[in-house]
Amino acid sequence: MAKEGVQDIIAIDGPSGTGKSTTAKMVAGELGYTYLDTGAMYRAVAYLVESGELRVESVHNSSLNLSFDNNNHILINGVNRESEIRDPKISAVVSKYSAVPAIREALTAQQRKFASEHPCVLDGRDIGTVVFPNAKHKFFLTANYKTRAARRLLELQNAGKAEGQTEESVEKNLRARDRADSTREIAPLAKAQDAIEIDTSHLTIQEQVQKVLQSVGEAARCNNSLNATHKG
Ligand code: C5P
Repeated sequence: MAKEGVQDIIAIDGPSGTGKSTTAKMVAGELGYTYLDTGAMYRAVAYLVESGELRVESVHNSSLNLSFDNNNHILINGVNRESEIRDPKISAVVSKYSAVPAIREALTAQQRKFASEHPCVLDGRDIGTVVFPNAKHKFFLTANYKTRAARRLLELQNAGKAEGQTEESVEKNLRARDRADSTREIAPLAKAQDAIEIDTSHLTIQEQVQKVLQSVGEAARCNNSLNATHKG
């Protein structure tokens, strides 16, 4: 059960390597919410198209069967494909597919449906601007490129996927994806006007999580006291 007094949707947007997913996962854990990794969904579609299992033209007609297990690992047609979707080969092409209108429509619809069934923390690029523009809590995480590249490289090393990768090559991919993601026509990576921006360059994960929880808690307390004033 989710704790009372907080809204049902928390949107955490921003580019890769800013600590979005770890923060979103921990905030969800603290509040008893479900975590939805929307980047994994775009990666899954990129993986399916690249491996010849899906045609971009038929994405509307296909029943994209995406779900997550208890470790937040993505299941495609019930099969764990977490390792495949995190491969640098997928990182190199995912932005090409995430710019395709039919793919965005299909995944946006799935994300809205999912979040209508669970109190949810979603992380992505367009959650606060397009998927849930009315979300009560919106955050936009940023960090400098050096920090982001170092974090991404460490993730790849931990996943055994860093072969041939350097901080420079990772930073190159981050810059290329940022450019593609923030200049595409539909749902570009952007900070919602009412999102709280957090620069995580010099923050620990715990500090990031605290900042988000504090802000969600303050908003909830403020709502509660407003309600109490109205009732009284
Ligand atoms: O978050 P992650 O780095 O796994 O996202 C992979 C890619 O998926 C992004 O570079 C972006 O192209 C796409 N994406 C998106 N909209 C989202 C989440 C991810 O376009 N809400």
